[in-house]
Amino acid sequence: MSGVPPFEVHVLGSGSATPVPWRNPSSHLLVYNQLRILIDCGEGTQMQLLRYGLKLGRIDHICITHLHGDHYFGLPGLLTAWHLTGRTKPLHLYAPAGLEELLQLIFSHSGGPMGYPLVFHQTSPHQVHEWEIEGQLLLKSLPIAHRIPTTGFLFSTLLEEKKASYAYISDTVYLPELARNLYGVDLLYHEATFTEELEHKAIATGHSTARQAALIAQASNASQLLIGHFSARYKDTFEHLEEAVAVFSATSVAEEGRCYKVRD
Ligand SMILES: [Zn+2]
Ligand SMILES: [Zn+2]
Repeated sequence: MSGVPPFEVHVLGSGSATPVPWRNPSSHLLVYNQLRILIDCGEGTQMQLLRYGLKLGRIDHICITHLHGDHYFGLPGLLTAWHLTGRTKPLHLYAPAGLEELLQLIFSHSGGPMGYPLVFHQTSPHQVHEWEIEGQLLLKSLPIAHRIPTTGFLFSTLLEEKKASYAYISDTVYLPELARNLYGVDLLYHEATFTEELEHKAIATGHSTARQAALIAQASNASQLLIGHFSARYKDTFEHLEEAVAVFSATSVAEEGRCYKVRD
């Protein structure tokens, strides 16, 4: 026996809505055992997957937090690429109401349905939903508070004696009550669009600061925190890191192309 299966996350995008040449918009690829789950799919995600040599064909599940473009504008391109390369197996989408309608409209104007089934699982901004993914992971969508209906996602192993979990929380204002649903999480990704200096801007735009992300990690008793979704105004993220580490020492900054282990 070689021990527990791999459980890790590849960061494909670490930026937010305004484009900058040094960051891509939101996307993570979660790997557990043979499962590949894409979380958010900002513009250029397909190219990022190719750039980092991550196999597109293995992805059968995609989770979309909300319908701001920086979280899903890469989806029509990725879904079309699978159609062009002859995909036949179903693709499961976990997303807010509206995505199905949007995609159907796009594809109805571009030559008809996909050559493979799209299976929609609707998330809710009002309550927690749960799905079992291929008997291996439990997926929960967690309501968070942004400017439009938004959920975070929590992934927990099902079959292991010592369970492990990864949470993806973006975009949201500081939401202390979230810690209850995240308690004991191994790796928490939490958006940190701004530093404390711009807390007023975070509140006004439905985002969090690096310090607030760290407070959530602390209250959740998380093992590790990963921060991302940085505003275009920041060329580097030293201040974000410094601010978060002062509250929660096991913090890392999400770097594109890097892979982070969910557990040691
Ligand atoms: Zn965003
Ligand atoms: Zn947003």
